[in-house]
Amino acid sequence: MRNMRVAVVGGGPAGLTTALALAMQGASVRVFERAAVLGEGGAGLQISPNGARALRALDLSGGLDRIGLTSDAVVPTDGLTGRAVTRFDLTAQVPRYRFVARPDLVGLLAEACARAGVEITTGTAIDRPEKFDLTVGADGIGSGIRRRLNGGAAPAFSGQVAWRATVPAEAAPQAHIWMLPGRHVVSYPLPGGLVNLVAVQERAEWTAEGWRHADDPDNLRAAFVDACPALIGLLSKVETVHLWGLFLHPVAAVWHDADTVLVGDAAHPTLPFLAQGANLALEDAVVLVRCLSTKGLSAGLAAYQAERAPRVSRAIAAARSNAVNYHLRGMRRRVAHLGLAGIGKLAPGAFIDRLAWLYDYDPAER
Ligand SMILES: Cc1cc2nc3c(=O)[nH]c(=O)nc-3n(C[C@H](O)[C@H](O)[C@H](O)COP(=O)(O)OP(=O)(O)OC[C@H]3O[C@@H](n4cnc5c(N)ncnc54)[C@H](O)[C@@H]3O)c2cc1C
Repeated sequence: MRNMRVAVVGGGPAGLTTALALAMQGASVRVFERAAVLGEGGAGLQISPNGARALRALDLSGGLDRIGLTSDAVVPTDGLTGRAVTRFDLTAQVPRYRFVARPDLVGLLAEACARAGVEITTGTAIDRPEKFDLTVGADGIGSGIRRRLNGGAAPAFSGQVAWRATVPAEAAPQAHIWMLPGRHVVSYPLPGGLVNLVAVQERAEWTAEGWRHADDPDNLRAAFVDACPALIGLLSKVETVHLWGLFLHPVAAVWHDADTVLVGDAAHPTLPFLAQGANLALEDAVVLVRCLSTKGLSAGLAAYQAERAPRVSRAIAAARSNAVNYHLRGMRRRVAHLGLAGIGKLAPGAFIDRLAWLYDYDPAER
C-alpha cells in the first residue's frame, strides 16, 4: 500500500479512521470534509468493545481511555414508573464499554491522522476526486458516492422520529433505556457533567431526511408528558434539541468498483437502537485496510465487502428488532417486562451473552 494515493470523502468517524489506518500502512491520504469544522454535531456515542478493538488496532486505546467514560451497565427501565426492569452488567467486558462525545472521538482521530501525515481539508464538498488510486466514500447517510455506485433508491421512513440533546446533569456510569408505550429514551453520562439523551417516538409520517432539524424542546416534553419524575426531570433541562426522521436504508448492494469503496453509514446506515453505527464504521476501516494489505487493491476490495456485508446486515437487523421490544403496549408490555426481570434474576449474563457475536468481535483478526 506504500505510496498509494487515496482520497477520503467525508471526515466523520468512518472517513478519519479509514484515513488513519491507510496512512499507518504507508498510503498517502487526503481527507475532504464538506463542513467548515470537523466534529460538528455534539451528541454522544457509545463505543462497545468491538469498536474499542478497532481503535486498539490503530494504537488509540490510550486516547479512548482519555476521552471516554467507562460504562458499568445498561438498565432497561419502565419509563412510566421509573422502576428498573433489569440490569445488564458490562463490567466483565474487555475492552470496557465507553461513553464518548462525538467531537472528542473525531478530535482524537483527527489528531492521530495529522501525526500519521494525513492531509485534511475542511469546507470542501466533492463527489468524484481525481488523480487518486483509491477514493473512499465516507460521506455518510446521504452518500453521493453510494448513489453513484448503486443508483438512488429512496429509503423508507421507519415510522419513528428521534430527538437528540445533551443536558447538564450528573448520572451514574450506565445507560438507561426508558421504555414507554410507542416510545423510548436512552440516557447516559458524557464527560464534563453532561447527560446525552436520544428520545424516539413512533409517528405516521415524516417529510425530510436528516438529523439537523431544530425543534422546540416543549414538543419533546409533550411526547413524554406521562413519564416518571426522573425522566421528566431530565427532559425539563433540555434547552436545544434536534429532531429527525429515522429511515430504513438497505445495505448497499455494491460497495466498490475498481478504484472506489464505501465505508460507514455510506455503505450501511443503521437505526440507532443498538448503538452500533459508529462502531461498525470503525470496524470497516480496520477490515478494509487488512484486506487491502493482504490481497492488494482489486481482490482486497472484493474481500472487504464479502467479509463486512453479513456482519453489518446482522447488526442492522438486531437494531431494528430492539425498537419493537422497547415500545410494547398493554399486556404484551407487562409480560415482556416480567420476562426480562425473571431472566435477569435467573441468568444475569444471558442478554449480554446473546450479543457475544457483536461485542466479542475483533476486526484486526480474521
Ligand atoms: C440518534 C443517534 C444515536 C447514535 N448513537 C450511536 C452510538 O451510541 N454508537 C454508535 O456507534 N453509533 C451511533 N450512532 C450512529 C453514528 O452516529 C453513525 O453511524 C456514524 O456517525 C457514521 O459515521 P460516518 O463517518 O459513516 O458518517 P458521518 O458521521 O455522517 O460522517 C460523514 C461525513 O461526510 C461529510 N460529507 C458528506 N458529503 C460530503 C461530500 N460530498 N464531500 C465532503 N464531505 C462530505 C459530512 O459532512 C460528514 O462529516 C447514532 C446515530 C444516531 C442518529
